[in-house]
Order: sequence, then C-alpha cells, then structure tokens
Amino acid sequence: MNSKKTNAAVAYTGEDDFRYETVTIEPPRADEILVNIKGVGICHTDLSFKSGAIPYPFPAVFGHEGSGVVEAIGDAVTKVKTGDHVVITFRSCGACELCSVGDTAYCQNFWPLNIIGCREDGTSSLSNDVGSVASNFFGQSSFAAHTITYEHNIVKIDPNLPIELFGPLGCSVQTGAGAVMRSLRARKGSSILIAGGGSVGLSAVMGAAIQQCATIIVLEPFEGRRELAKELGATHCIDPTSEDDLVSTIKEIVPNGVNNALDTTALPEIMEACFDSLGANAILGLVGIAPPGTPMPGNLDDLFMGGKGIKSIVEGDSNPDEFIPELVAHYQAGKLPIERLIKTYKLSEINQAIADQKSGACLKAVLIPDSEEPSV
Ligand SMILES: [Zn+2]
Ligand SMILES: [Zn+2]
Repeated sequence: MNSKKTNAAVAYTGEDDFRYETVTIEPPRADEILVNIKGVGICHTDLSFKSGAIPYPFPAVFGHEGSGVVEAIGDAVTKVKTGDHVVITFRSCGACELCSVGDTAYCQNFWPLNIIGCREDGTSSLSNDVGSVASNFFGQSSFAAHTITYEHNIVKIDPNLPIELFGPLGCSVQTGAGAVMRSLRARKGSSILIAGGGSVGLSAVMGAAIQQCATIIVLEPFEGRRELAKELGATHCIDPTSEDDLVSTIKEIVPNGVNNALDTTALPEIMEACFDSLGANAILGLVGIAPPGTPMPGNLDDLFMGGKGIKSIVEGDSNPDEFIPELVAHYQAGKLPIERLIKTYKLSEINQAIADQKSGACLKAVLIPDSEEPSV
C-alpha cells in the first residue's frame, strides 16, 4: 500500500482559522491502523492546543474524538480487521504500572503517546506540499478524512449503530459520564452538583441519571442548556450569574451539602462554590483545565473536619475497552441520548462549527468528512 491523499483541517501558527486542504497520509506501519473517519467531535482540548498556549509543532492536524471504519491494518494488528467500525479514544501504552491495573487514563506514557505531534521516533504520518504536518494528536489527529491510529486507541462497536455520532464517546462523553459513574461512583439516591452544562457537564448529568442519583443540580448560564439538562435528568438548574449567594441557593436544595460535586468549568469562583457546597465525606471532581497558578478551591480545615476530598479526573477514569461498550449499551437502552448534544457539520465547515460551539449555538459539533474525494 502506498501513501494516499486525503482531506484535513490543518492548523497553522498564528492563524485563527483552520485551512481545509489536501494532505498526504502514509500507509499504516506494522502496529498502525488506517481509519476512514466518519465523524469527529470538536473538544476544548483541540482548541487549547491550536491556540499555542501549550507548546506544539505546527502545522498540525488536531482532533481526538474520531470514529470511523478501518480501511487498512499493519501486519502486527490483531484487535480489528478491515471494515470494522471503531470509536477512537486517547492512546495508552497498555504496559506501564497504571495501564496494567486498568488505569489507562493515567498511563505513565500518556504525554509522548498523545501530545508530541509525531510518532515516538519523531516521524509524522502526515505531510503536505511544504513538508511534514504534525500528526498523532491523542494517537489519532482525526480532523481529517483518514487517520493513522493504534490498537490501544480503538474500541470496536456494532456496525448497525450511527458510527459518525460516536466519536465523542472517546473523550467528552466518557469524561463526563465516567467522572460520575467511575471516578465519583455516585450512589443511587445520592445528590450531585454539576457545574457547567456543556457536552462534558451534560454527559455527567446523563451519567448521574444512569446512577439513579435522586438530586442532580446543574449550574449553567445558558437557558437552552439548562432546559436540556432538565430533559436529560437534572432535578434543579441554576443560572450562577443571577445568584448573589450561590452556595446558599444550593443548600436550600440540599441543606447538608451535596454527596458529590463535579466541576467542568475550571472557573475559580465556581470551583470554590462547588467545594463550599460539599457535604460530609463528599468529593469534588475537577475535569476542567485551569490556568497555571490557579489556587486550590476551599480551605484545608474543611477537608480535615468533613472527610472531604478533591480529585482531578482524566477521561472519566475510563478504561475504554470496558467503559465505551458500557456507554454504547446505555445508548442502546435509551439512557445516553448523545444525539441530543450533537450538531453535525461538514469537515470543511470546521471554522463555523467552532464559532457556533463558542457562541452557544451548538453544544457539541461533530464534523463529517466531505464526501468528495480530494482533487489531487
Ligand atoms: Zn501505560
Ligand atoms: Zn477531549
């Protein structure tokens, strides 16, 4: 098999917009899998890296919530075959101390496998007319019609499912739902406070409903998102921007404090309110990425006296080979209606999709590669 041309949304240094253009993708090496992307979600992490806030090589193809159909496999690949439908999640090594006990989201090799913009040997599977294009973002770079990925990235799913919608299971949905179902292990009948009604927060709401939490309080400024949160299982929704004393409002609902809280906003005042709303022996989970130097929420004496804790959560503590099939089963049972969160765009419309996601016009944009083949 030879290199082939495909279409991708390429980010260039200092440019606000992605350029939709033709790139060359190498054939899969022995341990690699070529996937024909059918859909890819846009996640905040893609945009954080594109902004240059975190050092990364450019030009680059981002995208880490891909899903699609296996088009070719390397000689050493046994997990999937050509034609299989796959969700592509983050990459883990499968062999380190944490991977070996199933804590793959905390893989000790996470950074080099996900964040360096190339293979571990320094090569990239992508190039354009000018030269190399950074690839391998989260082991995928799936803002493209084709991507090279790896066995630890992929989870096979039923080919009868709408594969193009399932990419977000690989990051935002498993992050939100997993935070509640796995990291916090919310109990049936318990109370939970969820800050932020974006795709992670609303996935957390669905996770809390699956766990049969009795009280699910959502903090979200957009009215449309508050309404959707209620339809997905929230029992109370609060606009934090219209509250003078947010903690008092929450404690009117749960006088002894909540059993769990999850912050998806990374806003210091919201994290503080979440911490101050905790009841005894409760945990605050943090999934947002706060700016460097942001202080920890709360006071240490509250931790001592209340049995309280703060836990940072990566990818919902997901072990994707176990958890993504579990999420798919909840989708099939009607308990995880991810399509309620999603609006689809063509891959070539990526800049509009990002604008709509930022303005609140769209909750979770999923890009569908344009059907036309590249012109060269
Ligand atoms: Zn590992
Ligand atoms: Zn993500």
